[in-house]
Amino acid sequence: MSLNKTQKINLIQNYPKIASITKFTTISTIEIMMTFMGFKPAMAETIFYTTELKNNLNKIKELARQLGLYLAISKYKYIINSPQGIFEEIPLTSKKMAKIILALAKNKTKAQMAADYYHDKMLNSKYGYKFGKLMGYPECCLKFGNYLNNNNRDPNNFGFKNPAIESLKRSTHFTWQLNVFATSILSHFPCSLTCQKSIDYANKVFECLAVADSNHAESLKKQLTEATSLYWSCVDKILLYGDFKQYALGFGEIRYNTKDVQIHSDSYYQKVNLNKINEMKKIATILSRGNKLIVDDKNLTIYYNKNKIFQRAKDHKYVPVLVKPDIISK
Ligand SMILES: [Zn+2]
Repeated sequence: MSLNKTQKINLIQNYPKIASITKFTTISTIEIMMTFMGFKPAMAETIFYTTELKNNLNKIKELARQLGLYLAISKYKYIINSPQGIFEEIPLTSKKMAKIILALAKNKTKAQMAADYYHDKMLNSKYGYKFGKLMGYPECCLKFGNYLNNNNRDPNNFGFKNPAIESLKRSTHFTWQLNVFATSILSHFPCSLTCQKSIDYANKVFECLAVADSNHAESLKKQLTEATSLYWSCVDKILLYGDFKQYALGFGEIRYNTKDVQIHSDSYYQKVNLNKINEMKKIATILSRGNKLIVDDKNLTIYYNKNKIFQRAKDHKYVPVLVKPDIISK
């Protein structure tokens, strides 16, 4: 399926408004674009409820209205902690820094439902399915998402198990469109790294982006196809560029020449284990002094030419992993 002429003109004309909403909110441009184009029924994200955001809410609502979208926000603010505790719910009027849920849909009821269901699923993971269904996620990935839900009151619960790692464990190959280890253009985690429904959705994203913002499309494609990720979680990863040799999916070695450090859990979450973050930052620093990284199921080892300059035993076989897609065609 490709976009018809009317859809293309409509997208080109309205894309600046979509980008403005992103500028005011940090909400993903791709998510808003796909909702605007009618390729997903609704979207919802959490963002910090700053004074600036509060002051801009009317402007954002107006931009959404011009796009034919309704904006709904949650009735509460949330402190997002990880890995202990999912959401701490506090009143909107509280002075404490916290996030709100912001939802967009073409239909007013759906926008409100999106904010409500997001709230529900964060307080009790059994609501993950109905939230995902409303967001238009593929059925196969919804079932997988259900599996990911941890029981509530589990001390290691931050909503989900490590979803990208669970996708990887269910995969023998890895398609570039689903490179959730580098950056995600999907709004869900795929049930496997070759899930056809998710690839179809990703292709649609690229089709729209190629029309609306071809530079963005190109840089995204470059990242998805060329980055090898040293990956701990969706907010903590280091992207390496160079020659990668895979041992098995999740393990391998890379002789690298550039790196892009993306260790953000200390700004994404409000309570974090600083030791873990410092350890990841230390590895990032040592990577700058080396040029080869090996990650197998037991160790992470850094070399400068033939000299071993660092080695750390992994606590968990799959944390971190070193991954790059092995299906790059199309
Ligand atoms: Zn799937």
